[in-house]
Amino acid sequence: VAAYDVEALRRDFPILNREVHGKPLVYLDNAATSQTPQQVIEVFSDYYSRYNANIHRGLHTLADEATAAFEATRHRVKAFLNAEDARQIIFTRGTTEAINLVAQSWGRSQLSAGDEVLISMLEHHSNIVPWQLLAAERGFTIKVIPVDAHGALDMQAYRELLSERTKLVAVNHVSNALGTINPVKEMAALAHQHGALILVDGAQATPHQQVDVQSIDADFYAFSGHKVYGPTGVGVLYGKQALLEAMPPWQGGGEMIKTVSFDVGTTFAGIPHKFEAGTPAIAEVIALGRALEWMEGVGVEAIGAWEAVLLKHATQAVSGIEGLRILGTAPHKAGVLSFVVEGAHSQDIGLLIDQLGVAIRTGHHCAQPLLHHFGVEATCRASFAAYNTLDEVDTFVAALNRVIGMVR
Ligand code: PMP
Repeated sequence: VAAYDVEALRRDFPILNREVHGKPLVYLDNAATSQTPQQVIEVFSDYYSRYNANIHRGLHTLADEATAAFEATRHRVKAFLNAEDARQIIFTRGTTEAINLVAQSWGRSQLSAGDEVLISMLEHHSNIVPWQLLAAERGFTIKVIPVDAHGALDMQAYRELLSERTKLVAVNHVSNALGTINPVKEMAALAHQHGALILVDGAQATPHQQVDVQSIDADFYAFSGHKVYGPTGVGVLYGKQALLEAMPPWQGGGEMIKTVSFDVGTTFAGIPHKFEAGTPAIAEVIALGRALEWMEGVGVEAIGAWEAVLLKHATQAVSGIEGLRILGTAPHKAGVLSFVVEGAHSQDIGLLIDQLGVAIRTGHHCAQPLLHHFGVEATCRASFAAYNTLDEVDTFVAALNRVIGMVR
């Protein structure tokens, strides 16, 4: 990590210069949304001032330029995930929409009474609720892989839950609430031994580690642009080619058809366009490509290694605080520090620490079942990104100590 120049890369992020309540911003809510480098911000003014046009309908210069830039991101995402083919990359609004796409297209056509979908106790609501909605309609059963006291998945229980009834395992790669990194490659192999597919929610993994969907052998993999230094409004679904080709369309509209007729019905475009109905978030997709380029310029593995340094430093620094309990102490963790403090409400800590310029997250982190399992309604969560510094961690810990002194 010696060559990691955090001060240099901070200069790419104009927002890091701002103050909050008269204090320099210390932004530690990266698991919710990471900040955006100037290079990505510039995509928007460049796009809207030079080549704003609808894509794929071509036939003029601006449309061709917009289409080329849009499709260039598809190729960049293919490389980012090490997908076999760019046609396996489908643009969505985010991880949530990617999972809903799988549920409504693959799930609705494949799942029925007697089938089982395994999710885990660590899931974000976006990988729980789409399955509950569909289960209510299709009558299949959802089973939950439990976690141990450290917030790691109970792999023995997972093995025992798998059976011929299992049609899908849907798990996150990294937990947003605790930071646990799940052994998704091993989980995929076990799922496949039982003839089940695996969907991996990569919203919290893609910001921190090099992901290789072929090595994992994921059937579906989803992530969001706004957590990888890109804009909101765009995300990705990767799927195995044969699966995507066999799946029925989900949303109908322009872009996703081959021919439309009132008499003989409609035929659909091939992948990926079959799943991209309507005008997409064109500038956002192009900006996502620029964000991934930015990440690769720094080095995805280098970012992860730096965040591990920050996490270790933060974990050591807060473990001296009396009455503070860290949730999520699994051996493999990404840059998330979730904790509760005896005698202090998480929400009060969050509000008061904001007064000191420090942005952390408080609440249930869209993982209510997990928090209930640990017997809490809310935690405080500090989460790290490429541009955070050891000084910022120290500022956060000092602010936390001050706030705890105030509320106790
Ligand atoms: N899964 C995980 C693990 C997440 O952390 C998030 C975002 N907090 C999501 C899914 C949902 O992502 P989005 O809101 O961008 O669709």
